[in-house]
Amino acid sequence: MIYIGNHLSASKGYMAMGKMATKLGGNTFAFFTRNPRGGKAKDIDEKDAESLMQYMADNNFGTLVAHAPYTMNLCSDKENIRKFALDMFIDDLKRMEYTPNQYYNFHPGSHVGQGVEKGSAFIIEALNAALPEAKTTTVLLETMAGKGSEIGRSFEELQYIIERVELSDRLGVCFDTCHTWDGGYDLENNLDGVLEEFDKIIGLERLKAIHLNDSMNDRGAHKDRHAKLGEGHIGIDTLTKVINHPLLQGKPFILETPNDDAGYAKEIAMVKKLNI
Ligand code: FE
Ligand code: FE
Ligand code: ZN
Repeated sequence: MIYIGNHLSASKGYMAMGKMATKLGGNTFAFFTRNPRGGKAKDIDEKDAESLMQYMADNNFGTLVAHAPYTMNLCSDKENIRKFALDMFIDDLKRMEYTPNQYYNFHPGSHVGQGVEKGSAFIIEALNAALPEAKTTTVLLETMAGKGSEIGRSFEELQYIIERVELSDRLGVCFDTCHTWDGGYDLENNLDGVLEEFDKIIGLERLKAIHLNDSMNDRGAHKDRHAKLGEGHIGIDTLTKVINHPLLQGKPFILETPNDDAGYAKEIAMVKKLNI
């Protein structure tokens, strides 16, 4: 059994998201901690956060997978952008403690020409500065498609960062099916092998959540364009194997497919039916 849900708008608060998840047929969800393009976050309503936690317990929800803003680049070549990103990161982790024991996923960042090593050093530095705030939260690095100068295009790049972070027990990985596919991993013919490789390089105990997406592009395209399940190059047969893989049961699966609410309700129902 897996948990399934999609990205929900946080504009009406925590409890509204829990109810919306239920309305769409889901039992987990993702949300942006602030405007996905960055900027100021809303004040936290503690009571609202507590109500959501109770609601999730009453309704057997899986762990939530909050998402950092896309613009949060911890390894920019510009110091002011790195500083802005780190401040946002620290503030987000403080906010996450109002919904304890959930996941906070972020894109490691783009090194913008400085090289993977230098970029990774900045990410490690930022994690060392921010992770003390993650008291109950597990911070997830997302597997990336390798578009432009994105760091995290391979399991090795993620592990390089993880093993150099002091509080690495607070780190995990979010496995994005579109991104790993675009990064070149053969989910179609060798899903077991890909997960074995993940285990060998990072360790499967770090694999905490899945972003469940089809891809508009061929394997290895390094493009990162998501498609609806079954309407892309990964295909429904492979995604069905992902959904039912014994090593992935019990984890939150988050849809990031191009859909409106009705489309998500349909996809969530489809995934639940496929999860045998
Ligand atoms: Fe993401
Ligand atoms: Fe993703
Ligand atoms: Zn993506």
